[in-house]
Amino acid sequence: MSKLLIATNNPGKLAEFQELLADLGIELVTPAKIGLDLDVVEDGVTYAKNAAKKAIAFAQASNLISLADDSGLEVDALGGEPGLYSARYGALPLNSQNLGGAGGGKLSDGERRKYLLNKLAAFPRPWTARFHATIAIATPDSKLQITHGFCEGEIIPEERGTGGFGYDPIFLLPELGKTMAELSMDEKNRLSHRARAVMKARGILQEMFG
Ligand code: IMP
Repeated sequence: MSKLLIATNNPGKLAEFQELLADLGIELVTPAKIGLDLDVVEDGVTYAKNAAKKAIAFAQASNLISLADDSGLEVDALGGEPGLYSARYGALPLNSQNLGGAGGGKLSDGERRKYLLNKLAAFPRPWTARFHATIAIATPDSKLQITHGFCEGEIIPEERGTGGFGYDPIFLLPELGKTMAELSMDEKNRLSHRARAVMKARGILQEMFG
């Protein structure tokens, strides 16, 4: 059976991808599992450029078809911030030390949520927002496919729920009356931005793995 490398070191994302792709009959491997320690600087100006850069770098380094994503939270009152900078929001100054990857004076997830809520305090509610996920699938010879997924919601001022990661405890899905962090993994994987991007990627993977 051929292997698909899930090119992320984010444990929250990894768990979601493993669940979303489990039934495809493709063996999923992680960078850790194949002993690959690769840190790709996310300096692209779009989610697609960052996802593509990661997928191609991992595919070339591993000689395996590789799937990478770049995702972010876009808050309307802040003109789409933190967007591309969601993972390093609040970490200043922005320099080569904190352009993606680990370390570099980044805040913790909880500190980043507080930083966002402080910025939003001056704006009237509702604080409408969306998560955006972009997935890139690359072959070792740099053939590339890209998909996108979105999830609309609202930022709320108090944290609710213990599931998920990142901004999940303050991201409300108004039609469910629950935050992302109050959803089970199954529920999140039915309606999240990443789930929607993966749904579109499944056909591509089935074709590639025959
Ligand atoms: P990156 O795609 O690794 O650059 O990181 C995206 C960042 O966006 C994460 O570190 C989180 O802060 C945020 N993010 C992306 N997807 C989610 C999600 O499903 N829940 C909560 N936060 C997310």
